[in-house]
Amino acid sequence: MAEENKSSLDALSALCKRRGFIYHSSEIYGGMPGFWDYGPLGCELKNNVKQAWWQFTVRGRQDVAGLDATIIMHPKIWKASGHLDTFADPMTMCKDCKKLMRADQINDIYAEQKKKPQPKAAGSDFFCPYCGGELTEPKPFNLMFKTVVGPIDDPANVAYMRPETAQAIFAQFQNVTATSRQSVPYGIAQMGKSFRNEVTPRNYTFRSREFEQMELEFFIRPDEAVELLHGKVATLADNPDLDGPVQDDWGWEVWHKYWVEQRKKFLNAVGLPTEHFVEYWQKPDELAHYARACVDIEYDFPFGRQELEGIAARGDFDLSQHQKWSGESQAVFDDPLKQACKKLSDEEKRAFVAKVQADWAKRGKDAAAAEKFCLDLFEGKYVPHVIEPSAGVDRLMLALLCEAYEEQKISDGKGGDDVRTVLHFSPKVAPIKVAIFPLVKKDEAQDRMAREIFEKLRKKVNCMWDVSGAIGRRYRRQDEAGTPWCITVDGQSVQDGTFTVRERDSMEQKRMTYHEFLAMMYGALEF
Ligand code: ATP
Repeated sequence: MAEENKSSLDALSALCKRRGFIYHSSEIYGGMPGFWDYGPLGCELKNNVKQAWWQFTVRGRQDVAGLDATIIMHPKIWKASGHLDTFADPMTMCKDCKKLMRADQINDIYAEQKKKPQPKAAGSDFFCPYCGGELTEPKPFNLMFKTVVGPIDDPANVAYMRPETAQAIFAQFQNVTATSRQSVPYGIAQMGKSFRNEVTPRNYTFRSREFEQMELEFFIRPDEAVELLHGKVATLADNPDLDGPVQDDWGWEVWHKYWVEQRKKFLNAVGLPTEHFVEYWQKPDELAHYARACVDIEYDFPFGRQELEGIAARGDFDLSQHQKWSGESQAVFDDPLKQACKKLSDEEKRAFVAKVQADWAKRGKDAAAAEKFCLDLFEGKYVPHVIEPSAGVDRLMLALLCEAYEEQKISDGKGGDDVRTVLHFSPKVAPIKVAIFPLVKKDEAQDRMAREIFEKLRKKVNCMWDVSGAIGRRYRRQDEAGTPWCITVDGQSVQDGTFTVRERDSMEQKRMTYHEFLAMMYGALEF
Protein backbone atom coordinates (compact mmCIF):
# COMPACT_ATOMS: atom_id res chain seq x y z
CA MET A 1 0.00 0.00 0.00
CA ALA A 2 1.40 3.39 -0.96
CA GLU A 3 2.21 5.52 2.10
CA GLU A 4 0.46 8.46 0.42
CA ASN A 5 -2.77 6.45 0.16
CA LYS A 6 -2.51 5.22 3.72
CA SER A 7 -2.08 8.77 4.96
CA SER A 8 -5.10 9.90 2.91
CA LEU A 9 -7.21 7.33 4.80
CA ASP A 10 -5.76 8.65 8.08
CA ALA A 11 -6.60 12.23 7.05
CA LEU A 12 -10.09 11.19 5.97
CA SER A 13 -10.80 9.32 9.20
CA ALA A 14 -9.53 12.31 11.20
CA LEU A 15 -11.93 14.58 9.29
CA CYS A 16 -14.77 12.09 9.80
CA LYS A 17 -14.19 12.15 13.55
CA ARG A 18 -13.70 15.94 13.76
CA ARG A 19 -16.78 16.78 11.69
CA GLY A 20 -19.09 14.13 13.14
CA PHE A 21 -19.33 11.60 10.33
CA ILE A 22 -17.92 8.47 12.02
CA TYR A 23 -16.89 7.62 15.59
CA HIS A 24 -15.64 4.43 17.23
CA SER A 25 -18.55 2.66 18.88
CA SER A 26 -18.44 2.83 22.71
CA GLU A 27 -15.38 5.07 22.47
CA ILE A 28 -15.41 6.19 26.10
CA TYR A 29 -14.90 2.52 27.08
CA GLY A 30 -12.06 2.02 24.62
CA GLY A 31 -14.16 1.14 21.55
CA MET A 32 -15.05 -2.24 20.03
CA PRO A 33 -13.16 -3.49 16.95
CA GLY A 34 -15.48 -3.71 13.95
CA PHE A 35 -18.23 -1.47 15.36
CA TRP A 36 -18.73 2.13 14.26
CA ASP A 37 -21.24 4.90 15.00
CA TYR A 38 -22.38 7.58 12.60
CA GLY A 39 -22.52 11.11 14.01
CA PRO A 40 -24.77 14.00 12.95
CA LEU A 41 -23.31 14.34 9.44
CA GLY A 42 -22.69 10.60 9.04
CA CYS A 43 -26.27 9.61 9.77
CA GLU A 44 -27.56 12.21 7.27
CA LEU A 45 -25.18 10.82 4.65
CA LYS A 46 -26.27 7.27 5.46
CA ASN A 47 -29.96 8.11 5.26
CA ASN A 48 -29.39 9.83 1.93
CA VAL A 49 -27.49 6.84 0.50
CA LYS A 50 -30.27 4.49 1.59
CA GLN A 51 -33.03 6.76 0.32
CA ALA A 52 -31.22 7.11 -3.02
CA TRP A 53 -31.00 3.33 -3.34
CA TRP A 54 -34.66 2.89 -2.39
CA GLN A 55 -35.75 5.54 -4.88
CA PHE A 56 -33.63 4.07 -7.66
CA THR A 57 -34.42 0.40 -6.94
CA VAL A 58 -37.98 0.39 -5.61
CA ARG A 59 -40.02 3.58 -6.01
CA GLY A 60 -38.55 4.55 -9.35
CA ARG A 61 -39.61 1.21 -10.89
CA GLN A 62 -42.89 -0.63 -11.28
CA ASP A 63 -41.43 -4.11 -10.92
CA VAL A 64 -39.88 -4.05 -7.44
CA ALA A 65 -41.65 -4.28 -4.07
CA GLY A 66 -40.16 -3.56 -0.62
CA LEU A 67 -39.77 -5.62 2.54
CA ASP A 68 -38.60 -4.90 6.08
CA ALA A 69 -38.07 -8.19 7.91
CA THR A 70 -36.70 -9.02 11.37
CA ILE A 71 -33.02 -9.45 12.15
CA ILE A 72 -33.55 -12.64 14.13
CA MET A 73 -35.41 -15.30 12.17
CA HIS A 74 -36.17 -18.99 12.46
CA PRO A 75 -32.80 -20.81 12.72
CA LYS A 76 -33.87 -23.27 10.00
CA ILE A 77 -33.54 -20.41 7.51
CA TRP A 78 -29.76 -20.55 8.04
CA LYS A 79 -29.73 -24.32 7.66
CA ALA A 80 -31.60 -24.07 4.36
CA SER A 81 -29.44 -21.22 3.05
CA GLY A 82 -26.22 -23.08 3.86
CA HIS A 83 -24.97 -20.43 6.31
CA LEU A 84 -24.96 -22.78 9.30
CA ASP A 85 -22.77 -25.30 7.55
CA THR A 86 -20.57 -23.22 5.29
CA PHE A 87 -20.56 -19.51 6.22
CA ALA A 88 -17.11 -19.71 7.68
CA ASP A 89 -13.68 -18.18 7.21
CA PRO A 90 -10.44 -20.12 7.79
CA MET A 91 -9.04 -18.90 11.11
CA THR A 92 -5.53 -19.31 12.42
CA MET A 93 -3.76 -18.23 15.62
CA CYS A 94 -0.17 -17.34 16.34
CA LYS A 95 1.18 -19.74 18.94
CA ASP A 96 3.50 -16.99 20.26
CA CYS A 97 1.63 -13.65 20.26
CA LYS A 98 -1.83 -15.34 20.28
CA LYS A 99 -3.17 -12.99 17.56
CA LEU A 100 -6.14 -14.40 15.63
CA MET A 101 -6.30 -13.83 11.87
CA ARG A 102 -7.91 -15.07 8.69
CA ALA A 103 -5.58 -17.55 6.99
CA ASP A 104 -6.64 -16.22 3.58
CA GLN A 105 -5.63 -12.67 4.54
CA ILE A 106 -2.10 -13.41 5.77
CA ASN A 107 -0.51 -12.16 2.55
CA ASP A 108 -2.49 -8.88 2.74
CA ILE A 109 -1.35 -8.39 6.33
CA TYR A 110 2.31 -9.09 5.34
CA ALA A 111 1.96 -6.45 2.62
CA GLU A 112 0.61 -3.91 5.11
CA GLN A 113 3.46 -4.34 7.60
CA LYS A 114 6.14 -1.66 7.32
CA LYS A 115 8.74 -4.27 8.32
CA LYS A 116 8.07 -7.87 7.43
CA PRO A 117 9.00 -10.14 10.40
CA GLN A 118 11.31 -13.08 9.81
CA PRO A 119 9.92 -16.55 10.55
CA LYS A 120 11.06 -17.77 13.96
CA ALA A 121 11.11 -21.36 12.69
CA ALA A 122 13.61 -21.85 9.86
CA GLY A 123 12.15 -22.63 6.43
CA SER A 124 8.53 -21.78 7.37
CA ASP A 125 6.56 -19.85 4.72
CA PHE A 126 3.35 -19.64 6.80
CA PHE A 127 4.24 -17.58 9.84
CA CYS A 128 2.69 -14.82 11.94
CA PRO A 129 2.81 -11.52 10.01
CA TYR A 130 3.09 -9.65 13.34
CA CYS A 131 5.85 -11.53 15.20
CA GLY A 132 7.09 -14.32 12.91
CA GLY A 133 5.74 -17.00 15.28
CA GLU A 134 4.32 -20.37 14.27
CA LEU A 135 0.67 -20.40 13.17
CA THR A 136 -1.91 -23.04 14.04
CA GLU A 137 -3.56 -25.15 11.32
CA PRO A 138 -6.41 -23.01 9.83
CA LYS A 139 -9.86 -24.04 11.10
CA PRO A 140 -13.25 -22.91 9.74
CA PHE A 141 -14.87 -20.28 11.96
CA ASN A 142 -18.60 -19.60 11.47
CA LEU A 143 -19.25 -15.87 11.16
CA MET A 144 -22.79 -15.83 12.51
CA PHE A 145 -23.44 -14.20 15.89
CA LYS A 146 -25.43 -16.49 18.17
CA THR A 147 -28.07 -15.43 20.64
CA VAL A 148 -30.74 -17.09 22.76
CA VAL A 149 -34.43 -16.38 22.29
CA GLY A 150 -36.52 -16.38 25.48
CA PRO A 151 -35.47 -16.70 29.12
CA ILE A 152 -34.00 -20.20 28.98
CA ASP A 153 -30.40 -20.45 27.89
CA ASP A 154 -30.71 -23.81 26.15
CA PRO A 155 -29.27 -25.02 22.80
CA ALA A 156 -32.86 -25.51 21.60
CA ASN A 157 -33.39 -21.73 21.89
CA VAL A 158 -30.31 -20.66 19.95
CA ALA A 159 -30.96 -18.20 17.12
CA TYR A 160 -28.70 -16.10 14.92
CA MET A 161 -28.34 -12.44 14.03
CA ARG A 162 -28.82 -12.39 10.27
CA PRO A 163 -25.52 -12.30 8.34
CA GLU A 164 -27.33 -10.94 5.25
CA THR A 165 -30.74 -9.44 4.54
CA ALA A 166 -31.38 -11.60 1.45
CA GLN A 167 -32.69 -14.75 3.15
CA ALA A 168 -35.72 -12.95 4.60
CA ILE A 169 -36.70 -12.03 1.05
CA PHE A 170 -36.69 -15.69 0.03
CA ALA A 171 -38.53 -16.72 3.18
CA GLN A 172 -41.27 -14.13 2.50
CA PHE A 173 -41.35 -14.66 -1.26
CA GLN A 174 -44.83 -16.22 -1.37
CA ASN A 175 -46.36 -13.60 0.97
CA VAL A 176 -44.98 -10.69 -1.02
CA THR A 177 -46.01 -12.30 -4.31
CA ALA A 178 -49.54 -12.81 -3.02
CA THR A 179 -49.91 -9.28 -1.66
CA SER A 180 -47.95 -7.05 -4.03
CA ARG A 181 -49.87 -7.82 -7.25
CA GLN A 182 -46.53 -8.47 -8.92
CA SER A 183 -45.67 -11.42 -11.11
CA VAL A 184 -42.34 -12.79 -12.35
CA PRO A 185 -40.18 -11.08 -13.57
CA TYR A 186 -40.21 -8.87 -10.51
CA GLY A 187 -38.05 -8.08 -7.52
CA ILE A 188 -38.18 -7.71 -3.75
CA ALA A 189 -35.84 -5.25 -2.08
CA GLN A 190 -34.73 -4.84 1.49
CA MET A 191 -32.31 -2.61 3.39
CA GLY A 192 -31.16 -3.23 6.93
CA LYS A 193 -28.62 -4.38 9.46
CA SER A 194 -26.52 -7.50 9.03
CA PHE A 195 -24.01 -8.98 11.45
CA ARG A 196 -20.85 -10.97 10.79
CA ASN A 197 -18.40 -11.92 13.47
CA GLU A 198 -15.47 -11.07 11.18
CA VAL A 199 -12.20 -12.58 12.45
CA THR A 200 -10.24 -9.44 11.65
CA PRO A 201 -12.36 -6.35 11.02
CA ARG A 202 -10.04 -4.03 9.12
CA ASN A 203 -9.66 -0.95 7.00
CA TYR A 204 -11.83 1.51 8.92
CA THR A 205 -15.53 0.78 8.25
CA PHE A 206 -14.81 -1.44 5.22
CA ARG A 207 -15.12 -4.74 7.09
CA SER A 208 -17.31 -4.27 10.13
CA ARG A 209 -19.06 -6.73 12.42
CA GLU A 210 -22.33 -4.80 12.34
CA PHE A 211 -23.22 -3.14 9.05
CA GLU A 212 -26.11 -2.44 6.70
CA GLN A 213 -26.94 -3.98 3.38
CA MET A 214 -29.18 -2.98 0.49
CA GLU A 215 -30.23 -6.12 -1.35
CA LEU A 216 -32.50 -6.86 -4.25
CA GLU A 217 -33.67 -10.32 -5.26
CA PHE A 218 -34.98 -10.01 -8.80
CA PHE A 219 -36.98 -13.12 -9.69
CA ILE A 220 -37.04 -14.23 -13.31
CA ARG A 221 -38.47 -17.09 -15.34
CA PRO A 222 -36.16 -20.06 -15.94
CA ASP A 223 -34.79 -19.85 -19.50
CA GLU A 224 -36.82 -22.94 -20.43
CA ALA A 225 -40.04 -21.05 -19.58
CA VAL A 226 -38.93 -18.06 -21.68
CA GLU A 227 -38.27 -20.42 -24.59
CA LEU A 228 -41.74 -21.98 -24.32
CA LEU A 229 -43.31 -18.51 -24.25
CA HIS A 230 -41.30 -16.83 -26.98
CA GLY A 231 -39.77 -19.66 -29.03
CA LYS A 232 -36.31 -18.28 -28.19
CA VAL A 233 -34.28 -16.89 -25.32
CA ALA A 234 -32.47 -13.57 -25.84
CA THR A 235 -28.82 -13.76 -24.81
CA LEU A 236 -26.03 -11.20 -24.78
CA ALA A 237 -25.05 -12.40 -28.27
CA ASP A 238 -28.32 -10.78 -29.47
CA ASN A 239 -27.02 -7.38 -28.38
CA PRO A 240 -30.07 -6.49 -26.28
CA ASP A 241 -30.73 -2.81 -25.57
CA LEU A 242 -30.03 -2.65 -21.83
CA ASP A 243 -30.88 1.06 -21.61
CA GLY A 244 -34.38 0.63 -23.01
CA PRO A 245 -37.42 -1.02 -21.41
CA VAL A 246 -36.94 -4.58 -20.10
CA GLN A 247 -38.02 -7.33 -22.50
CA ASP A 248 -40.07 -10.46 -21.89
CA ASP A 249 -37.76 -12.71 -23.94
CA TRP A 250 -34.60 -11.96 -21.90
CA GLY A 251 -32.83 -15.01 -20.47
CA TRP A 252 -30.87 -15.00 -17.19
CA GLU A 253 -27.68 -13.85 -18.91
CA VAL A 254 -29.31 -10.66 -20.17
CA TRP A 255 -31.08 -9.97 -16.86
CA HIS A 256 -27.79 -10.37 -15.02
CA LYS A 257 -25.96 -7.94 -17.30
CA TYR A 258 -28.95 -5.57 -17.13
CA TRP A 259 -28.62 -5.41 -13.33
CA VAL A 260 -24.85 -4.89 -13.53
CA GLU A 261 -25.57 -1.88 -15.76
CA GLN A 262 -28.32 -0.63 -13.44
CA ARG A 263 -25.98 -0.78 -10.47
CA LYS A 264 -23.32 1.15 -12.40
CA LYS A 265 -25.90 3.82 -13.24
CA PHE A 266 -26.82 4.08 -9.57
CA LEU A 267 -23.17 4.44 -8.51
CA ASN A 268 -22.69 7.17 -11.13
CA ALA A 269 -25.82 8.96 -9.88
CA VAL A 270 -24.60 9.05 -6.28
CA GLY A 271 -21.15 10.30 -7.22
CA LEU A 272 -18.85 7.45 -8.32
CA PRO A 273 -17.73 7.93 -11.92
CA THR A 274 -17.49 4.75 -14.03
CA GLU A 275 -13.72 5.25 -14.53
CA HIS A 276 -13.22 4.87 -10.78
CA PHE A 277 -14.55 1.35 -10.36
CA VAL A 278 -14.07 -1.91 -12.21
CA GLU A 279 -16.30 -4.85 -13.03
CA TYR A 280 -14.69 -8.11 -11.97
CA TRP A 281 -16.36 -11.15 -13.55
CA GLN A 282 -15.68 -14.13 -11.30
CA LYS A 283 -13.96 -17.04 -13.02
CA PRO A 284 -15.83 -20.38 -13.17
CA ASP A 285 -13.66 -21.87 -10.39
CA GLU A 286 -14.38 -18.86 -8.12
CA LEU A 287 -18.16 -19.12 -8.41
CA ALA A 288 -20.33 -20.63 -5.67
CA HIS A 289 -21.50 -24.09 -6.84
CA TYR A 290 -25.05 -22.87 -7.59
CA ALA A 291 -24.09 -19.52 -9.18
CA ARG A 292 -24.13 -19.07 -12.93
CA ALA A 293 -22.28 -15.76 -12.94
CA CYS A 294 -21.14 -13.19 -10.42
CA VAL A 295 -19.75 -9.73 -10.96
CA ASP A 296 -17.99 -7.82 -8.20
CA ILE A 297 -17.92 -4.08 -8.56
CA GLU A 298 -14.56 -3.11 -7.15
CA TYR A 299 -13.39 0.31 -6.02
CA ASP A 300 -9.85 1.58 -5.53
CA PHE A 301 -9.92 2.29 -1.80
CA PRO A 302 -6.78 3.87 -0.28
CA PHE A 303 -5.94 0.37 1.06
CA GLY A 304 -6.27 -1.29 -2.35
CA ARG A 305 -8.85 -2.46 -4.87
CA GLN A 306 -11.71 -4.14 -3.00
CA GLU A 307 -15.27 -5.34 -3.52
CA LEU A 308 -17.87 -2.63 -3.19
CA GLU A 309 -20.84 -4.77 -4.11
CA GLY A 310 -21.74 -7.91 -6.04
CA ILE A 311 -24.32 -8.94 -8.62
CA ALA A 312 -24.92 -12.70 -8.75
CA ALA A 313 -27.07 -14.95 -10.93
CA ARG A 314 -28.05 -17.60 -8.38
CA GLY A 315 -30.38 -19.85 -10.42
CA ASP A 316 -33.22 -21.29 -8.32
CA PHE A 317 -30.92 -22.38 -5.50
CA ASP A 318 -32.34 -20.23 -2.69
CA LEU A 319 -36.06 -20.75 -3.25
CA SER A 320 -35.53 -24.47 -3.91
CA GLN A 321 -33.59 -24.83 -0.65
CA HIS A 322 -36.39 -23.13 1.30
CA GLN A 323 -38.95 -25.29 -0.47
CA LYS A 324 -36.97 -28.37 0.59
CA TRP A 325 -36.42 -27.35 4.23
CA SER A 326 -39.82 -25.76 4.92
CA GLY A 327 -41.92 -28.20 2.93
CA GLU A 328 -43.78 -25.17 1.51
CA SER A 329 -43.97 -24.83 -2.27
CA GLN A 330 -42.03 -21.85 -3.58
CA ALA A 331 -43.35 -22.29 -7.12
CA VAL A 332 -45.38 -19.62 -8.92
CA PHE A 333 -48.19 -20.02 -11.38
CA ASP A 334 -47.55 -18.25 -14.67
CA ASP A 335 -50.76 -18.06 -16.69
CA PRO A 336 -49.23 -16.73 -19.96
CA LEU A 337 -46.85 -19.73 -19.85
CA LYS A 338 -49.70 -22.19 -19.32
CA GLN A 339 -51.64 -20.65 -22.22
CA ALA A 340 -48.57 -20.83 -24.50
CA CYS A 341 -48.02 -24.51 -23.56
CA LYS A 342 -51.65 -25.40 -24.31
CA LYS A 343 -50.90 -24.69 -27.96
CA LEU A 344 -48.10 -27.30 -28.10
CA SER A 345 -48.75 -30.74 -29.60
CA ASP A 346 -47.74 -33.88 -27.64
CA GLU A 347 -44.91 -34.41 -30.08
CA GLU A 348 -43.60 -30.85 -29.54
CA LYS A 349 -43.79 -31.40 -25.79
CA ARG A 350 -41.83 -34.67 -26.04
CA ALA A 351 -39.17 -32.99 -28.17
CA PHE A 352 -38.93 -30.16 -25.60
CA VAL A 353 -38.50 -32.61 -22.71
CA ALA A 354 -35.76 -34.48 -24.60
CA LYS A 355 -33.94 -31.20 -25.30
CA VAL A 356 -34.10 -30.11 -21.66
CA GLN A 357 -32.93 -33.55 -20.50
CA ALA A 358 -29.91 -33.30 -22.81
CA ASP A 359 -29.11 -29.77 -21.55
CA TRP A 360 -29.44 -30.76 -17.93
CA ALA A 361 -27.30 -33.88 -18.43
CA LYS A 362 -24.41 -31.55 -19.41
CA ARG A 363 -24.77 -29.97 -15.95
CA GLY A 364 -24.90 -33.37 -14.24
CA LYS A 365 -28.64 -33.26 -13.49
CA ASP A 366 -30.82 -36.31 -13.85
CA ALA A 367 -33.37 -37.03 -16.60
CA ALA A 368 -36.31 -37.70 -14.25
CA ALA A 369 -35.88 -34.29 -12.55
CA ALA A 370 -35.70 -32.62 -15.97
CA GLU A 371 -38.91 -34.34 -17.06
CA LYS A 372 -40.76 -33.33 -13.86
CA PHE A 373 -39.55 -29.75 -14.34
CA CYS A 374 -40.89 -29.72 -17.94
CA LEU A 375 -44.25 -31.21 -16.98
CA ASP A 376 -44.63 -28.48 -14.34
CA LEU A 377 -43.70 -25.83 -16.92
CA PHE A 378 -46.45 -27.12 -19.25
CA GLU A 379 -48.87 -26.42 -16.36
CA GLY A 380 -47.40 -22.91 -15.93
CA LYS A 381 -45.52 -23.84 -12.72
CA TYR A 382 -41.89 -23.26 -11.78
CA VAL A 383 -39.62 -22.07 -8.98
CA PRO A 384 -38.29 -18.69 -10.14
CA HIS A 385 -34.62 -18.04 -10.70
CA VAL A 386 -32.99 -14.98 -9.19
CA ILE A 387 -30.51 -12.20 -9.91
CA GLU A 388 -29.11 -10.67 -6.73
CA PRO A 389 -27.53 -7.21 -6.64
CA SER A 390 -26.19 -6.95 -3.10
CA ALA A 391 -24.57 -3.77 -1.76
CA GLY A 392 -23.20 -2.62 1.58
CA VAL A 393 -24.36 0.78 2.84
CA ASP A 394 -21.23 1.37 4.93
CA ARG A 395 -18.88 0.27 2.15
CA LEU A 396 -20.58 2.58 -0.32
CA MET A 397 -20.40 5.43 2.20
CA LEU A 398 -16.67 4.80 2.64
CA ALA A 399 -16.17 4.81 -1.14
CA LEU A 400 -18.18 8.06 -1.44
CA LEU A 401 -16.11 9.66 1.33
CA CYS A 402 -12.82 8.55 -0.30
CA GLU A 403 -14.05 9.78 -3.68
CA ALA A 404 -15.24 13.12 -2.31
CA TYR A 405 -12.20 13.96 -0.18
CA GLU A 406 -9.77 16.55 -1.48
CA GLU A 407 -7.12 18.73 0.09
CA GLN A 408 -6.57 21.74 -2.18
CA LYS A 409 -3.50 23.93 -1.84
CA ILE A 410 -4.65 27.53 -2.09
CA SER A 411 -3.24 30.94 -1.27
CA ASP A 412 -4.05 32.33 2.17
CA GLY A 413 -4.41 35.81 0.62
CA LYS A 414 -1.35 37.02 2.57
CA GLY A 415 1.30 35.54 0.28
CA GLY A 416 1.36 32.17 2.04
CA ASP A 417 -0.16 28.74 1.37
CA ASP A 418 -3.30 27.34 2.86
CA VAL A 419 -5.15 24.04 2.54
CA ARG A 420 -8.83 23.92 1.65
CA THR A 421 -10.39 20.58 2.62
CA VAL A 422 -13.44 19.77 0.53
CA LEU A 423 -15.84 16.85 0.36
CA HIS A 424 -17.14 16.92 -3.22
CA PHE A 425 -20.32 14.93 -2.49
CA SER A 426 -23.03 14.69 -5.11
CA PRO A 427 -25.89 16.96 -3.93
CA LYS A 428 -28.05 13.80 -3.91
CA VAL A 429 -26.19 12.34 -0.92
CA ALA A 430 -24.64 15.46 0.69
CA PRO A 431 -25.59 15.50 4.40
CA ILE A 432 -26.38 19.24 4.35
CA LYS A 433 -27.84 20.55 1.11
CA VAL A 434 -27.82 24.28 1.85
CA ALA A 435 -26.20 26.56 4.42
CA ILE A 436 -27.76 29.96 4.98
CA PHE A 437 -25.94 32.99 6.35
CA PRO A 438 -26.74 36.64 6.90
CA LEU A 439 -23.62 38.47 5.68
CA VAL A 440 -23.69 40.84 8.65
CA LYS A 441 -25.09 39.12 11.68
CA LYS A 442 -25.95 42.32 13.53
CA ASP A 443 -27.95 43.68 10.58
CA GLU A 444 -31.53 43.01 11.65
CA ALA A 445 -33.04 43.12 8.16
CA GLN A 446 -30.44 40.67 6.78
CA ASP A 447 -30.85 38.37 9.78
CA ARG A 448 -34.66 38.38 9.44
CA MET A 449 -34.60 37.65 5.71
CA ALA A 450 -31.96 34.91 6.05
CA ARG A 451 -34.01 33.29 8.85
CA GLU A 452 -37.13 33.31 6.69
CA ILE A 453 -35.25 31.55 3.88
CA PHE A 454 -33.77 29.08 6.37
CA GLU A 455 -37.19 28.28 7.89
CA LYS A 456 -38.75 27.75 4.43
CA LEU A 457 -35.90 25.63 3.05
CA ARG A 458 -35.46 23.40 6.10
CA LYS A 459 -38.99 22.10 5.55
CA LYS A 460 -37.75 20.69 2.23
CA VAL A 461 -34.13 19.64 2.75
CA ASN A 462 -31.50 19.48 5.49
CA CYS A 463 -30.17 23.02 6.04
CA MET A 464 -27.56 24.64 8.25
CA TRP A 465 -27.69 28.08 9.86
CA ASP A 466 -24.36 29.75 10.56
CA VAL A 467 -23.65 33.28 11.72
CA SER A 468 -20.28 32.84 13.41
CA GLY A 469 -17.05 34.15 11.96
CA ALA A 470 -16.10 35.77 8.68
CA ILE A 471 -17.98 34.61 5.59
CA GLY A 472 -14.84 32.86 4.23
CA ARG A 473 -14.61 30.72 7.39
CA ARG A 474 -18.28 29.84 7.13
CA TYR A 475 -17.73 28.67 3.52
CA ARG A 476 -14.75 26.55 4.65
CA ARG A 477 -16.79 24.83 7.35
CA GLN A 478 -19.39 23.90 4.76
CA ASP A 479 -16.71 22.73 2.29
CA GLU A 480 -15.50 20.25 4.91
CA ALA A 481 -19.05 19.00 5.45
CA GLY A 482 -19.57 18.67 1.67
CA THR A 483 -22.45 21.18 1.49
CA PRO A 484 -23.05 21.94 -2.21
CA TRP A 485 -24.60 25.41 -1.82
CA CYS A 486 -24.23 28.35 0.57
CA ILE A 487 -26.79 31.17 0.47
CA THR A 488 -25.65 34.57 1.71
CA VAL A 489 -28.16 37.31 2.40
CA ASP A 490 -26.54 40.75 2.03
CA GLY A 491 -27.48 44.43 1.71
CA GLN A 492 -28.77 44.00 -1.84
CA SER A 493 -30.94 41.04 -0.77
CA VAL A 494 -32.91 43.28 1.55
CA GLN A 495 -33.50 45.69 -1.35
CA ASP A 496 -34.42 43.32 -4.21
CA GLY A 497 -35.07 39.87 -2.64
CA THR A 498 -32.17 38.12 -4.40
CA PHE A 499 -29.28 36.44 -2.58
CA THR A 500 -25.91 35.00 -3.54
CA VAL A 501 -25.51 31.27 -4.01
CA ARG A 502 -21.94 30.02 -3.69
CA GLU A 503 -21.34 26.70 -5.38
CA ARG A 504 -18.90 24.45 -3.47
CA ASP A 505 -16.83 22.94 -6.31
CA SER A 506 -16.44 25.96 -8.61
CA MET A 507 -16.59 28.44 -5.69
CA GLU A 508 -18.56 30.68 -8.07
CA GLN A 509 -21.20 32.99 -6.67
CA LYS A 510 -24.42 33.77 -8.51
CA ARG A 511 -27.32 36.01 -7.56
CA MET A 512 -30.66 34.22 -7.59
CA THR A 513 -34.22 34.58 -6.46
CA TYR A 514 -35.65 32.01 -4.06
CA HIS A 515 -37.60 30.31 -6.86
CA GLU A 516 -34.59 30.21 -9.18
CA PHE A 517 -32.62 28.56 -6.39
CA LEU A 518 -35.38 25.99 -5.71
CA ALA A 519 -35.56 25.02 -9.41
CA MET A 520 -31.76 24.62 -9.59
CA MET A 521 -31.63 22.60 -6.35
CA TYR A 522 -34.48 20.25 -7.24
CA GLY A 523 -32.90 19.66 -10.66
CA ALA A 524 -29.69 18.53 -8.97
CA LEU A 525 -31.45 16.31 -6.43
CA GLU A 526 -33.65 14.42 -8.88
CA PHE A 527 -32.80 10.90 -10.08
P1 ATP B 1 -16.19 -9.92 1.36
O1 ATP B 1 -15.62 -10.88 0.34
O2 ATP B 1 -15.61 -8.54 1.27
O3 ATP B 1 -16.22 -10.48 2.75
P2 ATP B 1 -18.69 -10.91 0.61
O4 ATP B 1 -18.44 -11.38 -0.79
O5 ATP B 1 -18.75 -11.89 1.72
O6 ATP B 1 -17.70 -9.72 0.97
P3 ATP B 1 -21.46 -10.53 0.35
O7 ATP B 1 -21.79 -11.63 1.26
O8 ATP B 1 -21.66 -10.73 -1.11
O9 ATP B 1 -19.99 -10.04 0.61
O10 ATP B 1 -22.22 -9.22 0.85
C1 ATP B 1 -22.70 -8.25 -0.04
C2 ATP B 1 -22.16 -6.88 0.29
O11 ATP B 1 -22.33 -6.58 1.69
C3 ATP B 1 -20.66 -6.73 0.05
O12 ATP B 1 -20.38 -6.45 -1.31
C4 ATP B 1 -20.35 -5.54 0.94
O13 ATP B 1 -20.70 -4.32 0.32
C5 ATP B 1 -21.27 -5.76 2.13
N1 ATP B 1 -20.54 -6.41 3.21
C6 ATP B 1 -20.31 -7.73 3.37
N2 ATP B 1 -19.60 -7.96 4.50
C7 ATP B 1 -19.38 -6.75 5.06
C8 ATP B 1 -18.70 -6.33 6.25
N3 ATP B 1 -18.16 -7.19 7.08
N4 ATP B 1 -18.67 -5.00 6.52
C9 ATP B 1 -19.25 -4.10 5.70
N5 ATP B 1 -19.90 -4.45 4.57
C10 ATP B 1 -19.97 -5.76 4.25
